[in-house]
Amino acid sequence: MFFLLLEMLLLVGLAGIPGWFFGGVLGAAFAALLALFVHGLMLQWKLDRLENWLSAPVLRQDPPWQGVWREIAERVQRLVRQQERRATLRQQQLQDFLLAIQASPNGVILLDEEARIEWCNDTAASHLGLDAQRDHLQHIVHLVRDPVFARYFSQDNHASEAVIEGRGSSALNLQKLSVQLHAYGEGRLLLLTRDITALAQADAMRRDFVANVSHEIRTPLTVLSGFVETLQSIPLNEQETQHYLQLMSVQSDRIQSLVADLLTLSQLEGSQLPSTQDKVSLAALMLQVTTEAQAFSDWMANKGEGPVHQLEFAPVPDVCLTGSRSELLSAVSNLVSNAIRYTPLGGRIQINWSSAAEGLVFAVHDTGPGIAAEHLPRLAERFYRVDRCRSRETGGTGLGLAITKHVMQRHGGELRIQSVVGVGSTFKLLFPASRVLPSLD
Ligand code: ADP
Repeated sequence: MFFLLLEMLLLVGLAGIPGWFFGGVLGAAFAALLALFVHGLMLQWKLDRLENWLSAPVLRQDPPWQGVWREIAERVQRLVRQQERRATLRQQQLQDFLLAIQASPNGVILLDEEARIEWCNDTAASHLGLDAQRDHLQHIVHLVRDPVFARYFSQDNHASEAVIEGRGSSALNLQKLSVQLHAYGEGRLLLLTRDITALAQADAMRRDFVANVSHEIRTPLTVLSGFVETLQSIPLNEQETQHYLQLMSVQSDRIQSLVADLLTLSQLEGSQLPSTQDKVSLAALMLQVTTEAQAFSDWMANKGEGPVHQLEFAPVPDVCLTGSRSELLSAVSNLVSNAIRYTPLGGRIQINWSSAAEGLVFAVHDTGPGIAAEHLPRLAERFYRVDRCRSRETGGTGLGLAITKHVMQRHGGELRIQSVVGVGSTFKLLFPASRVLPSLD
């Protein structure tokens, strides 16, 4: 400012002297006014140039002036660069923030004051069937056409979440979404969506499981209490009493087996994975399985008053499996006892171990009734039974194959079932080669 003033005074002074010389006071005043006018024009011209220079899209070149104009230009340039840097940083932060929300496993939708979509991440888009670009500034209630959502949206209080069906939902593949609105900023809303299909399924499975267990326990308990009432109210002779006690013992055995299998299942679910260091000798394991199978078959023959099964145990390879002995025993025994329970007396049951490309295979082949193909995928579900009567009669709990499948998963193996109705079934346990070791000695 000072320099500009000095420059102006100098110009007025320089013009005034010749004006005085040629025209006296009037000449000096006229020359000074002319100098002021010229100075004004120059100032205007320089300001225009500065403005042009500053309005260039990229302020990168050096200011083409010296002195005070260069200083002004440089200062403005510095300020503009600072602003640019700040804007870039903010832009970057916003991008990072949006990327973080984009990566969220939950859906996020930002709604403006009129509940129109301002932004949504991909998860929300797929949950609700939205298109971030196409549906930009569309009212959310016009797009999410679920009456539950419309009702929830119109409520004043959004403290709790609402559960609606996802866009990918179908009769076969139900998708459940939890949605919740949160107010933020000035009248804006944040809509969060969460896929709770797995949770809802787990909840349904838990409810089914509790209902099944209750049902399985209630049946023998009802029978038991009926017998107790009979014993208490009707005078019976010794033979009749023994008969009733025998029937009661069957029911209490049933409850015991069920509780034992439930405990086994919960232990399998809650315990650590079986060790890969503990060796289980196949020979010793199969000795126990053979003895128990023979005894069970004899008991069945006795009970059914028919011929015993033809149990054929092939020689056992001289190897060890790594894992839990008790778990492996229950997996193998379940298959053998099932074959005995479901194969009519006198039927043939072959049990063998063999090596295969995948590792070691245990197979139980029977000549029982066989199982229709539609049941096979569900056979290892808890309490799934094809022949409910036969299962109950022979002390089945409906949990044997579920336990076996669980044990196999814990040992990195697999349960496979092949069956032909009227011909028989083959149940196989596949153990990975990594779990097979040479014998202990
Ligand atoms: P359960 O205690 O009822 O035998 P499992 O889980 O062991 O329960 O078996 C589930 C169902 O699979 C049985 O109820 C039965 O219907 C069928 N099943 C299992 N093994 C055989 C088999 N060897 N032959 C025919 N059906 C079988």
